Amino acid sequence: MSNETSLKDALAYDKTFDCVQCGYCLPACPTYETMEKETHSPRGRINLIKMAAEGKASLDDLKEPIEKCLGCMACTTVCPTDVQYGDLLEAAKETLEKHETKTKTQQKTEGFLFGSFFPSSSWMNALGQATWLYQASGMQKAARALRLTSMAPLHLGEFEQVVPAQPSPKERKARSRRVKPDGTPAAKVAFFTGCVMDSVFFETNQNTVELLRLSGAEVILPENQTCCGALHAHAGKTDMAKEQAAANIQVFEEEDVDYIVNNAGGCGAKLIEYDRMFEEGTDWQERALAFTEKVKDISEVLVELDGLAFSKDVPKTITYQPSCHMTNVQRVTRPPRELMESIPGLTLKDMDNPGFCCGSAGIYNIVNYNDAMDILDVKMADVKKTSPEAIVTTNPGCLLQMKLGVQREGQGESVEAVHLVDLLMEAGPRSRN
Ligand code: SF4
Ligand code: SF4
Repeated sequence: MSNETSLKDALAYDKTFDCVQCGYCLPACPTYETMEKETHSPRGRINLIKMAAEGKASLDDLKEPIEKCLGCMACTTVCPTDVQYGDLLEAAKETLEKHETKTKTQQKTEGFLFGSFFPSSSWMNALGQATWLYQASGMQKAARALRLTSMAPLHLGEFEQVVPAQPSPKERKARSRRVKPDGTPAAKVAFFTGCVMDSVFFETNQNTVELLRLSGAEVILPENQTCCGALHAHAGKTDMAKEQAAANIQVFEEEDVDYIVNNAGGCGAKLIEYDRMFEEGTDWQERALAFTEKVKDISEVLVELDGLAFSKDVPKTITYQPSCHMTNVQRVTRPPRELMESIPGLTLKDMDNPGFCCGSAGIYNIVNYNDAMDILDVKMADVKKTSPEAIVTTNPGCLLQMKLGVQREGQGESVEAVHLVDLLMEAGPRSRN
């Protein structure tokens, strides 16, 4: 096979021809809106992939436009010819990753992050515990008073300010991995806890289990589950993402459950695509398909079980920032709204252009900080027009990004950013069974 043919295969060249250059996707693309360059639009990226596959552009020419793509998939929702942009993006990322020359330090850092850190619940727990120690011991206060946080690399000092208070190691340890339903059993579910969700938003995960329990579900939290693989796939590490998928399939098929529930839009989007990661017709693909058929977002399951009633008014005006991956990949749109509309006293005000990504996109806001903040500023302008007391979302990255947005606007005291699950808990949920 010639180099050109193998590059064409690697870059999914054939799929580039589905693009008819109409440009309908341009106004939907956040990076085109903020960067105003054709190369940072969906159409421009597809053309560059085609040119790189034909040898008319180098992989170096492709690198920046692909790295600056959020992967939000807003372009796929307006494309009249159903271009498989997700496949093209993933193929480009994998190709760039394979061709990139990395220093030993880069290799070691990435090897640790993607091979050991994200996949390990022990490491993620350790991160949560270290954060608790930092917050509870007074170190956080001292670091802020001495302005040490502003010296942290990669703007991590700004993210440090929006990380919620962490539970103590004792509280983490006390978590039950098998929870009986309240009242008549209505379903048996396994909870996919997520690596970032479980580390940074542990309390939201606990609330998720509680809402499921009150809805009549028996809830199991399989111990050896691992990261969904989305972070690996975003970084072009497709083989590693596949390893995560295989590990999760194995763990969850040990439990005979009706649903595999998650509460993170980005994770859910990866989980429902597991079957596409394995070769067609193989045993692994069949197992992956059985897995994906059970995957559901928490909002879908709560609506389906219809087992919650609320005892408290939540007299707040809120706006909803839907997770791009939940909307554009999972295509879950109605259930979160139904749940918000069922909360007594709540006013939901829609912002303009809710489908415009908030700029979080996995670790995009860390590695492309300035671009992510430009995108966030556009989002916050729309948020502010609704004068909300809370911004509600359904993904850990979006949640941190919205907290950051509120802080950047100087509204930290008057506006909160919350996960839908935590908002439901504020309304005093009880079982209708
Ligand atoms: S995935 Fe999002 S950022 Fe990337 S090209 Fe499509 S709309 Fe633009
Ligand atoms: S909308 Fe679809 S077909 Fe039209 S330019 Fe964008 S990707 Fe190509």
